[in-house]
Amino acid sequence: MKKCVHCDKPNSEGWFYCRSCGNKASEPMYTTQVVIRDSGWATAIRKDLVDFSTITMEDSIKSVQNNIMKENSKKWNERAKKAWKQGD
Ligand SMILES: [Zn+2]
Repeated sequence: MKKCVHCDKPNSEGWFYCRSCGNKASEPMYTTQVVIRDSGWATAIRKDLVDFSTITMEDSIKSVQNNIMKENSKKWNERAKKAWKQGD
C-alpha cells in the first residue's frame, strides 16, 4: 500500500496530492519527473534564444528588403491587370 510521505496516511488510489494533508503524496518520484521535464523545456527555450540572437543584422535587412520587393511586385501586377482590363 502506498503511503503519503508527509503524514504516512495510506494513499491506495495513488493520488499525486495526499487526500489527508494536501501535500504531494509521493514527492521523491514526482520531483524527479518534474526536474527532468523542466530541464528539457529550459534547454529548448535556451536554443530558441540562441537561434534568435544569431540572426545577423545583414540577414534581417535582406529579409525586409525581400518582403518590400514582394509587396511592390504584387502592387505592380495588380496595376498591370487593371490596365489590361481597362484596355479591353
Ligand atoms: Zn499526507
